[in-house]
Amino acid sequence: MNKIFVVSGPSGSGKSTLIKMLTKEHDCILFSVSHTTRKEREGEVDSEDYYFISRKNFTNMINKDLFAEWAEVHDELYGTSINEIEKKSTGDSILILDIDVQGAEIIKDKFTDSLHVFIMPPGIVELEKRLMKREKKLNSEFRKRLITAEEEIRIGESGFYDYKIINDDIDESYNKFRNIFRKYMRSVLLPDKNNSQGAGK
Ligand code: ADP
Ligand code: 5GP
Repeated sequence: MNKIFVVSGPSGSGKSTLIKMLTKEHDCILFSVSHTTRKEREGEVDSEDYYFISRKNFTNMINKDLFAEWAEVHDELYGTSINEIEKKSTGDSILILDIDVQGAEIIKDKFTDSLHVFIMPPGIVELEKRLMKREKKLNSEFRKRLITAEEEIRIGESGFYDYKIINDDIDESYNKFRNIFRKYMRSVLLPDKNNSQGAGK
């Protein structure tokens, strides 16, 4: 069984922050490093945050069927390789995917045991502030992310996701996020013990 914990939400909603906090506390977590055609941001590390590749190489990977899922987001291509899933989601590891709503739908179809969490910003004004804090200026990346956010929030609210967290106070959100993860972790790493309790979703 592939153990896959999917986190989605608009850019700037706090996914990376929550995932980093969770990873520090749980040795069983591995992070799925996606391939992308977007440019590296200051402070990002190639092969740790993303595999930064050219559009030509990304298209080659699509043609060779190397992706479990891929999508175009904010005019750039992003994808999770099959290799990443096969390498990191078996045994005693749980793989965390930070992917958009289109990718999450594909993963849910292919991996029916995966769990899906949506991180919602407390509002568009707060999302703008958080994106500003990260991007430092009103660049085109910032604008594209705000435009996409409303559509993503609509999908997040549609009932597709197993859980939804409104990330207002970070400590409260982390507490909820950790509880959801731990329930999933118990259901997939100790399935026999939990069968009688109906753990999981
Ligand atoms: P994402 O991974 O969803 O794009 P990040 O985790 O990078 O978002 O968060 C975007 C910015 O918002 C970062 O500067 C982060 O420190 C900040 N942030 C995250 N969660 C909160 C919160 N609950 N309250 C205030 N700021 C937050
Ligand atoms: P960012 O450029 O801000 O890091 O990410 C932009 C969006 O792309 C986010 O919603 C993020 O979850 C999504 N994303 C990152 N990697 C993948 C991936 O491999 N597949 C898909 N479908 N979306 C991804």
